[in-house]
Amino acid sequence: MPNAPALASLPTVKVAPRGATRLKAGHVWVYRSDIVSADGVLPGSLVRVSDHRGKPLGTALYSGSSQIAIRMISHDPVADFPALLRQRIGGAIAYREPLVSNTEAYRVIFSEADFLPGLIVDRYGDILSLQILTQGMDADPVRQAITAELTARLHPASIVERVDPRVRELETLPPRASGLVQGEKTSTTFTMNSIRFHFDALEGQKTGAFLDQRENYAAAAQYARGEALDVFCYQGGFALHLARHCSHVTGVDSSRPALEVADQNAALNPRDANQPGIEWIEANAFDLLKDYSSSDHRYDTIVLDPPAFAKTKRDLDAALRGYKELNLRALKMLRPGGILVTCSCSYHVSQSNFLEMLAGAALDAHRTLRLIELRGQAKDHPVLLNVPETAYLKCVIASVR
Ligand code: SAH
Repeated sequence: MPNAPALASLPTVKVAPRGATRLKAGHVWVYRSDIVSADGVLPGSLVRVSDHRGKPLGTALYSGSSQIAIRMISHDPVADFPALLRQRIGGAIAYREPLVSNTEAYRVIFSEADFLPGLIVDRYGDILSLQILTQGMDADPVRQAITAELTARLHPASIVERVDPRVRELETLPPRASGLVQGEKTSTTFTMNSIRFHFDALEGQKTGAFLDQRENYAAAAQYARGEALDVFCYQGGFALHLARHCSHVTGVDSSRPALEVADQNAALNPRDANQPGIEWIEANAFDLLKDYSSSDHRYDTIVLDPPAFAKTKRDLDAALRGYKELNLRALKMLRPGGILVTCSCSYHVSQSNFLEMLAGAALDAHRTLRLIELRGQAKDHPVLLNVPETAYLKCVIASVR
């Protein structure tokens, strides 16, 4: 267990040259296939990492089951892991101070990108939502250090843990239910970009907001106008932002519970007399776009924010076909001068894959796209340049001719 073992007693994991090269290039993962020896190392342990000759490479958390066997936490020896955790949590909070504004909801800790692999913490007003994704972060003393430090620094009313059963299975961790870790409060409202949203930490198909889109909401609102369509609207993140600038807004999603929250969110925000209500449509986006684009539905602004189509590298081609179909149909429906806001949150679809797909869709739709903004995830979801996996969200804003 990674609770401050004496330095000398840390077990050593030896990595193959390919793993060592990866670490020397600034990455923080070593795959199981690049492990030479990890004899007797307990799952979730803090370990010393060395190359195959025994040259030290730093300190890591070891997983006994994940394909990612090693997640580096330091180039140096680590004597007191809980102390390092506390310091890193403080660092993550300080990092955001100059970067995050005009919101009560944001990501406080983003795993590797905050040098805390396997830990995600989101803040929704005075509720913290915690996700533990690795064996190393799941150990009781580690959990206690995390909760204590978050409490001391952010004074939340409560901390709620959200559990992804699939992740626990992959990490061979015992099943655990989502629930309160501390305090009693599980729901609240929060303001983001001056718009109010409901947050329920335990209810719903997927709780929480898509905080990574926070800055893209504001950017989209800057260009949006006329009649707008928000496809894959979930709880209305884009639609609510568009409603302040558009004459009519329609949100589409296949999830009724998401649309119910979207409608409640709309009701939370007072409208002036000239501001439209938002129409919510429960539908399969592919069917609806097919229907609408072949009839005479036309829009001035369309947002496409589908779920990740490529969960693995193998899905790339199928994913690109899915994105192309959506974008092609959206392009057909946009009036000249219209605005397309199109997103992909699939890490396996690179920015260049995405732009190439979009250029192809424009050609097929006989439209010309001019790039207004090429955007990514909000700054509270930092990207480590040497760890490409930390960059996953693409958001293109373009003008259509
Ligand atoms: N734009 C949203 C996030 C979208 S997440 C925001 O900013 O908050 C993706 C959404 O797509 C989910 O709400 C999910 O219910 C919805 N979805 C998934 N498959 C769908 C489909 N085939 N048709 C319509 N909606 C779908």
